[in-house]
Formats: sequence, structure tokens, C-alpha cells
Amino acid sequence: MQFENTREFARQLDKDDKLSKYREEFIFPKVNGKDVIYFVGNSLGLQPKSAQKYVDEVMKDWAELAVEGHFYAEKSWWDYHERFSEKLAKVVGAKSTEVTVMNTLTVNLHLLMVSFYRPSGKRYKIICEEKAFPSDQYMISSQVRFHGYDPKDAIVEIKKRDGENNFRTEDVLDKIREVGEECALVLIGGVNYYTGQVFDMETITKVGHEVGAFVGWDLAHAAGNIELKLSEWNVDFAAWCSYKYMNSGPGNASGCFINEKYHNKKDIPRFEGWWGHNKERRFLMEPEFQPEPTADAWQISNAPILAMAPYLASLEMFDEVGMPALIEKRNKIVAYLEFVLHEIDKEVDSTFEIITPAEQENRGTQLSVFLHGEGKELFRYLMDEGVITDWREPNVIRLAPAPFYCSYEDMFEFGQILKKGILSKQD
Ligand SMILES: *Cc1c(COP(=O)(O)O)cnc(C)c1O
Repeated sequence: MQFENTREFARQLDKDDKLSKYREEFIFPKVNGKDVIYFVGNSLGLQPKSAQKYVDEVMKDWAELAVEGHFYAEKSWWDYHERFSEKLAKVVGAKSTEVTVMNTLTVNLHLLMVSFYRPSGKRYKIICEEKAFPSDQYMISSQVRFHGYDPKDAIVEIKKRDGENNFRTEDVLDKIREVGEECALVLIGGVNYYTGQVFDMETITKVGHEVGAFVGWDLAHAAGNIELKLSEWNVDFAAWCSYKYMNSGPGNASGCFINEKYHNKKDIPRFEGWWGHNKERRFLMEPEFQPEPTADAWQISNAPILAMAPYLASLEMFDEVGMPALIEKRNKIVAYLEFVLHEIDKEVDSTFEIITPAEQENRGTQLSVFLHGEGKELFRYLMDEGVITDWREPNVIRLAPAPFYCSYEDMFEFGQILKKGILSKQD
């Protein structure tokens, strides 16, 4: 499709957009009395209007039923989390028995490393990407030290080539093969938080297995953003937060995937609690742990129902729309944003550069833009004008037009505001 950088053209795209009606289902903050242009759904998704109702329901059940709500609330609490598995499994390409919701992301990665990072003998190294999200770096380093190793020796980082913005799959595979039988675990962010690059998870998982390592993925920036086929790719484990593209609310519960081949396996250790116990017998309070035969065996505590209520509201919208429709719009709106950026760049004499891969299969919703010169000033100007982006040192703004609620006209409008901002500085 031949794009045009005009308001009429953008409006026509919105008219033709099957998902445009969902914009009304979300609450936008306002700046100067106007809805903001929201580019940070990769950081904290907007609040679905239906979330309030789901929370109110729980508050009402708690008031009226108190402890009886565990069994007699319309959405009973003892099995509240089970309402997520099937819908969430569709989002990440898994069987419903392989998916569970619990805790928060970094906590879950630690718990999954209890099961899947068990260094012994020669095999003790973890391969991750350089400049991984800080929480992942701290987590991996503390796990390695917990097992008595030196992070400098036990953590092997995949590097980008000099002068390149993104990782090359061949370099990832070479590194895995080089570390070979010393590699205990490959653990990478499936979508890089900084550049938006999508890793070739299928191939990397396969090669990790060839050297005898477990392969896990941090899907914080992938869940609800890109197509995932965790079962088919034979991934060992994965975890993701729900408050980014999945719009569940700040700090909300994390999803986990545990490949079914590890369910019911006695040689896979776990940190256990009563919510992972055989659910038919959970309240018999027996002394010996009998794991659920699913990913739920990894659950420890009873679920935080109030937190999970808005997540369920949001997940039901994902289920209604489906990832294929979201991805179709995502591809088009990101392509349009990229086009608008290139048009503006021509008019303002190359003051920025997109560092996200240009190929659709290597990126999702996010475009990361490197700003030359006074980047931070421009970022603040955008905020004042009601364009919410986020800033990453040294000079990058990240733009993620979430397909659920961003419009094509937003992209056009953003381009105009950006141009004005850059030109006023060049004067
Ligand atoms: C957002 C994000 C996190 C956040 O971790 P929490 O435990 O939810 O605070 C971790 N890892 C990556 C890659 C992220 O993008």
C-alpha cells in the first residue's frame, strides 16, 4: 500500500480498521484537555474500561460473602486463576495445561530457574544477551552467585557487532555452540526491550537443545505483541508480565509457560506451596505434596484475586479479538508510523534514525528512534504536547503504537508535533 502523510489518508485508514472501535474501550489520560497520543503500551498498557467492573465484582463478593467467596462467588476465588489458562495459552501458542498465572515476572523467572538452572560439573554457564533488561541481569547474576559461581565466568553474553544496532541470529547460534557442553541455560528476552528486535526463538531453542541446555525466554515485551508458538518451538519455559502489552494494570501478575514434558517429572525440582497441590485434595491439608499434573504445580500461594480481576477483563478482550487481528493491525500501523517518521526526517534534515530492524518479521509493535543532538529536550517537548513516549539513555525514544487503542490519525498527528518540535529547535 502506498501511504500518504496526510490527515485525510490517516483517517481513511482508521475508517477501514476493523479494530478501531476498541479505542473506545480504553481510558486515555488527558494533557491540555485532550486525549494523549499513547506510545508506551510496551511499558504500561492503558486501562480497559471493563477493568473497573471486574474489580468491583470482587469487592462486592468480599463484602457480601467474605470467606465464602472462595467457593460461592460467581467467579469463585479458589480456582480464579484457572479462568486464565485457556485464553492465555492462545496468546502465547501453548496448551492450556502449560500456562499458569502467578506472582510477578522476575519472581517467576527466579522460580523457574530453580527448576531449570541446576548447574553441575562442567555444565554451569548461562547465555544471555548483552545489556539485557536490568532486572534480568540482576536475577541471573544472583542465581549464579547463589550456586557458588563467579558471574564473570558463568554468564556469557551474546554481543552485537561493532556499529550494528541488532543481534544477528548466526552470532547467537555460534555462541551457543562455542559454549557447548558448558552451557546449562540459554535465557534471553524474546523481544529486546531497547530496540524492539524479535529473536528467532524457534531456531535458538533448537540449537540450545542440541548442546544439551535448557532454553527459557523472558517474554515481557513479546506477550500480546508478537506471534508466539511456545509449544511448537519446544521452549522449556517462559514468563512474561501482563501490564505491558496485555493491559492488566501496574505491577500485575505474571504468566508462565512450562513445557508439558516437565509436568509430573520427579527429577525437576521446584519450590512448592499449597496452590500447586492436587486441587481435589488441596483443602484436606495432607502432609505430603502431590503436584497438580500441569503448570499449576509451580503455583505457590493462593491467587491475589483483586489484582487478577483487571487482568481477566483485559484477557477477555484479547480472546475476543485474537492475536492474528492484533498482529495484522500492528504490522500496518507500525509501517505507517515508520513511513511518517521517514517523511518527517526528510523535511527536518536527518536528525534521527530508527534502530529497530526494518523487516516486519524481526520486530513487533515497537520502533526505537535514536535522536541526534538534544534528544531529551525533544522528549520533554513531546510530553508537554501530549505525546507520551519513553526515554532510554543515551538518546533513544521508544514508540509502541499498541494496535488495541492507537489510531492511524495518532501517527499522523505525532509526525506533525515532532516536526514542529525539531524545526523550532533548529531555528
Ligand atoms: C518489564 C520487564 C521486566 C519487569 O520485571 P518485573 O518483575 O515485572 O518488575 C523484566 N524483564 C524484562 C525483559 C522486562 O521488559
